[in-house]
Amino acid sequence: MNVSEKISEIIESKRSLFTNVSDQIWEYAETRFEEFHSADLLCQSLTNEGFSVTRGVAGLETGFIGSYGEGHPIISILGEFDALAGLSQEAGSKSFNPISVNGNGHGCGHNLLGVGALSAAIAVKEYLEENQLAGTVRYYGCPAEESGYGKTFMARDGLFRDVDVAFSWHPATMNAVMHSTSNAVIHADFKFLGRSAHAGASPHLGRSALDAVELMNVGVNYMREHMIDEARIHYAVTNTGGFAPNVVQSESEVTYLIRAPKPHQVRELFDRVVDCARGAALMTQTKMEFTIQGSCHNLIPNLTLEKVMYQHMKELGFPSLSEASIEFAKAMYDTLTDEEKQSSAMFVGKEMAKRLKDRPIADFIAPFSENAKFMGGSTDVADVSWNVPTAQCVTSTWAFGTPYHTWQVVAQGKEEYAHDAMLLAGKAIACTAISVLENPELIENAKRELKETLDGKRYESLIPSDLVPPNSKQMINSY
Ligand SMILES: [Zn+2]
Repeated sequence: MNVSEKISEIIESKRSLFTNVSDQIWEYAETRFEEFHSADLLCQSLTNEGFSVTRGVAGLETGFIGSYGEGHPIISILGEFDALAGLSQEAGSKSFNPISVNGNGHGCGHNLLGVGALSAAIAVKEYLEENQLAGTVRYYGCPAEESGYGKTFMARDGLFRDVDVAFSWHPATMNAVMHSTSNAVIHADFKFLGRSAHAGASPHLGRSALDAVELMNVGVNYMREHMIDEARIHYAVTNTGGFAPNVVQSESEVTYLIRAPKPHQVRELFDRVVDCARGAALMTQTKMEFTIQGSCHNLIPNLTLEKVMYQHMKELGFPSLSEASIEFAKAMYDTLTDEEKQSSAMFVGKEMAKRLKDRPIADFIAPFSENAKFMGGSTDVADVSWNVPTAQCVTSTWAFGTPYHTWQVVAQGKEEYAHDAMLLAGKAIACTAISVLENPELIENAKRELKETLDGKRYESLIPSDLVPPNSKQMINSY
């Protein structure tokens, strides 16, 4: 029996455990920093399987590490489990059908992500045990990926310092090994304090904090012409200072995400955004304070590990699909607009798009490309990838074309093909981890590659050294 057969056997023997845990986390649908039940369930599952679990790591209430084995190599497997607000949706429903108004939902498939990673960690543990191999496998329970960026706190606090390699994956509409880069990001809140007054009787006595927010946004919007094309800046007004136009707003807040391909570019843009805020405060005679809430670096791919992962994925293949699965995937594909269909077709190329149009679920492994794909979004896996060689794959948990953060993702979260894809990711990660454990030169090569890519640059977290992750109480009524 080769490694992929052995790993498949281990994971398939615990299939119902994994699908039940994933479905349960789908039900919990807990958002950033409040993933208490989901974290409990994952910790319990790790304990039951013989891992020792440390909770509350890096000051994260719902962050944890499950560990098995001793000494090097130390393999880190990253799991996420946070949901999104406003994406409540019935599982298995072919149309938009929220369970509760404004409720939460797993619109990015992190119920699957966390458990796919769990299946990998458990399979590696069993393999280590059976073959009496030296080495450690660690499951990193990483909260708040969607916003808050738990892994950045873990990386800043040195939780990857002794790790040799890291693996993760993400639910998607394709089976492939990722060779991608992403934008770095800083997330910051800006608060303005003015003076209230009767807007009709004595407006000259008031100093409007809302005016300051508006002027800051105007300033930043004028910046757009004078920044690099790849940069992205988006904001949301989180406190307008009340609903009464006849009261000059004494307090107002706006939150910003500032993205660019490199950390130093984000830092520069962030400083300019702060200047816009300072200017707005000066113009309106208000006071301004800002707080960095979180950040991510840019993702650094690792070809050495990715090539190994691709070989394993090809060996593993995607399990055959049932007619019911294909029918449901078709129903999901039919909910997409023409623009969404065209956009996903462009993403995979003409030939593959043709193949997926009538049978809209990828049951094959896409060829590996060494041309790094650039993602405009950001991920906190990036902060891990600056510290240790990191490889990731994606698998087709969703019908072709399904956009992220939508009700369609939530609707597919418990489907048979979502479970199959989740376990394929777990198997691919576990097999790659075993290759690394049995071939130490892979670790050396992967580390050398990372060193060359960094070219002398060192990881310096973009969050302040004294920033404490928000606790669950602070999250109440937050955006
Ligand atoms: Zn995600």
